Parts: sequence; C-alpha cells; structure tokens
Amino acid sequence: MQIAAIVQQLEALAPPVWQESYDNAGLITGSGSWECTGVLTTLDATEEVVKEAVARQCNLIVAHHPIVFGGLKKITGKNYIEKAVIAAIKKDIAIYAIHTNLDNLVIGGVNGRIAGMLGIVNGKPLLPKEGTLRKLYCFVPVDHQEAVRAAIFAAGAGVIGNYDECSFGAEGTGSFRAGEGTQPFVGQKGERHYEKEVCLQAVLPAHLSGAVVRAMIAAHPYEEVAYDLVPLANTHPNIGSGLIGELLTPMDEKQLLDRIRDVFKVPVIRHTRLTGRPVKTVAVCGGAGSFLISKALAAGANFYITADVKYHEFFDANDQLVVADIGHFESEQYTIDLLFEVLREKFRNFAVLKSDTKTNPVNYYY
Ligand SMILES: [Zn+2]
Repeated sequence: MQIAAIVQQLEALAPPVWQESYDNAGLITGSGSWECTGVLTTLDATEEVVKEAVARQCNLIVAHHPIVFGGLKKITGKNYIEKAVIAAIKKDIAIYAIHTNLDNLVIGGVNGRIAGMLGIVNGKPLLPKEGTLRKLYCFVPVDHQEAVRAAIFAAGAGVIGNYDECSFGAEGTGSFRAGEGTQPFVGQKGERHYEKEVCLQAVLPAHLSGAVVRAMIAAHPYEEVAYDLVPLANTHPNIGSGLIGELLTPMDEKQLLDRIRDVFKVPVIRHTRLTGRPVKTVAVCGGAGSFLISKALAAGANFYITADVKYHEFFDANDQLVVADIGHFESEQYTIDLLFEVLREKFRNFAVLKSDTKTNPVNYYY
C-alpha cells in the first residue's frame, strides 16, 4: 500500500482545507508514492520519534503537530526541528501532520475525544468555522432528476446533521437555444426550446464541491449543465474551534478537577478561582486555547478546559467561569489513540502502532 492511500483516509476524516491559515498540516517529508511499511502515531515527530519509527519498521509517522511550521532556510541540525527533518530524510521516513484540521473536526476530532473522556455530551463547536458549506442549484429535466439526485448524494451532498439525502426540487420551465457545434439532448438547433425542468437544491461541504459537480455532470443528460454553486453563511454543526457541551449530571467544580486529574494524568492543574456553582456546561479546547475564553464565557460555559493560558488571560474568566489549564501535551495526549484507532479501523491487516516516546517537553517539580 502506498503512503498516499493512508493520507487519503486521514484527509477524508479531516480535509486539509479545514486547517487554520497559520498551519502547516499535510505531508512534511517523504512522498505519497512510497510503499508504506507501517504507521507510527504520535503528537510530535521529534528526532527520537523518527528513531523509534526506524526501529519499529514504520516509514510513516502520523503526527498531530507539524514539526515544520515556518520555512527552513538552513538545515544544519542546530535545533530540534532541523534534527528531526534530517533524521527523517536520511532514513526515508515520511512525516504527515494532521493538526488544526483535526482540531476543527469537533465530534471525531481532538476536542470530541477530550469531551468523550470526561463524559461531556452534545458537543458543538465553540467557534464554528466559516465558509465550510455551499449550496448547489442544478437545473435538470424532470425525468432525469432522480439520477442526478442519487449522484450528488453519493458524492456527499445533502447531509444536514444526522439526516442525509436532503434536497429540494422546484419545477419550472427552462429555455435554451442550441448553437454551432452542439448536439442538444432535446430541441432543434437554432431554435429556442422550452423544457420542463426541476431546480434541484442541496447543501454540501465546500471541500466536496469538485466531486459533487463532477458527479452531477456525469449523471446529467445535457451537454452543458446549468448550475449555481453558492457559498453559504450557514456554519457546519461539527466544524470549528473548541467544543461546548454538557455533563450528563451537573457536578461540583472540585469533583470535575479531580476527574480531569485522573483522566489526563496531570500532576497539577492551573485554574482560576472556583465560583462554588455546580458545573453543567463545559467548554474544551485541546492545546493552546486562550483565544476561546471569551467565546466560552459568551456561550454560558461554567468551566473551560484548555492549555497554554497566560497570567493575564486567567483574569478574562471574570469570576464567571473556571478556566483550567491542564497542560498542552496532557490535553492532547489521547489524539495519539484517536489517530491509531482511525487508521487501524481502515487498515485492519496493516502495521499501525502508537509511539511509546513521551514527547512532552514540560516537566513538573512539586
Ligand atoms: Zn497542540
């Protein structure tokens, strides 16, 4: 199996277009055309992890964090990034990063996993991502509408929440005049023709636009298909930053802190003053999430679990919610399992391994 086949599965889960503008998700070293010998999942593709991949005969590392973020102008091995890149290239190891695109997939992604481990249900994005949905309007002769419907559904159009095959058809009359070099499906060349048509409408994820349009054209009888593809201001219910959800039964703030400490194996949690109120609504964002404190407040969260919170940012909690910084590595550690499970499920008889290297650069002395 080629590395490209594994990349394709990862990108079906979290398309690269969902990554933030500053990110560098995707294949960082190696080539999709290489034959894959095994996959190693990790948070960070450090030099140590590259060595582990070599020792365990895996030539593909699937990491959450891109080891290369900015450009590399010199590759001399003077820092951990260059060391990892040199080791990977020398040993023919491909490194693939699935980063903010996996953060932005709510249920099924990094934050959905965190919520699941803490018993938080009904998760939705805290900050829905814009520009992820489009609407297709396709004009099709009445007798051919079912074929076009089936084709666009199969390509991924028509999904709204837990409903699929959603569409709307409005009947009307289309007109056209076939010109030079045409072979019209109905009507005479050079004469205006009227045809009973249906305007078929369906919503689709923007990243599937190409596939849906190709499927529509293939199933449509006309040689020139009239259609409109329109960007929507609606947001996708499962794509965006952070997650907000509820605990099945409200709990005491200290009980929740205890649960976090046990589940995430954190020796210390930095948090704002406890409010004494029961916790029902909880927001989470794995990794650096202080940019969402105001969103968590506005959404009415009682508790916000994240990492990399700076001193002044703790004040933003305003005694209205508890902000808990549980550590960057700690918050995202289960992403290693998430990637492992996704790939093992797709490639049952293939070597998919979890890295044993603890890449957390932060240590605690207490
Ligand atoms: Zn992170």
